[in-house]
Amino acid sequence: MTTFRTHTPLRRMLLHAIAPAALGSVLTLAASQAALAAPAGKHGTHPTAAAKHWTHPTAARYRISAPYGVRGHWRAGHHTGVDLAVRAGTRIRSVGSGTVVLARRSGAYGKAVTIRMNDGRYVLFGHLSRITVRPGQKVHARTRLGYSGATGRATGPHLHFEVRTSRRYGSDINPLTYLARHGIRLTSGPFRR
Ligand SMILES: [Zn+2]
Repeated sequence: MTTFRTHTPLRRMLLHAIAPAALGSVLTLAASQAALAAPAGKHGTHPTAAAKHWTHPTAARYRISAPYGVRGHWRAGHHTGVDLAVRAGTRIRSVGSGTVVLARRSGAYGKAVTIRMNDGRYVLFGHLSRITVRPGQKVHARTRLGYSGATGRATGPHLHFEVRTSRRYGSDINPLTYLARHGIRLTSGPFRR
């Protein structure tokens, strides 16, 4: 394409600026479309490519000890996440790709990690005993974030898993629906993967 020859440096610059963002959206879109198109597998696993980009917050057995949205003595008036009862010291991992925006003690959440996902949602992991990531770090599905515990307001070891539309407390959405859209099903029964 001789017409572009004189504009090559500018064109290259533009491509560099646009390509990563555009590619990110395309991949995210492809993953969610695959998740919607294919039937969900047994035990929460998914037989399509989407499962490679998304995963459960833990590979260990867990049960749901407190569902999302139940009314109670939380500041928002309801439980803003889902509680997964796991043994203390269980490896906790990212459910997909994003960037760490918080990794420290955070009030009732105890030691907490928040990931800004590439789709713009915020995923929060609470009550950890230890954090192994730093703010600004890029993570992917299965990247270790830390280990479960009972820090903050917790009566026993469990993972509080929360999804928000913004960083603001109270902007929570149903975390099970969010993961299900990406082909990942949190099930209440004993689970192994
Ligand atoms: Zn909780």
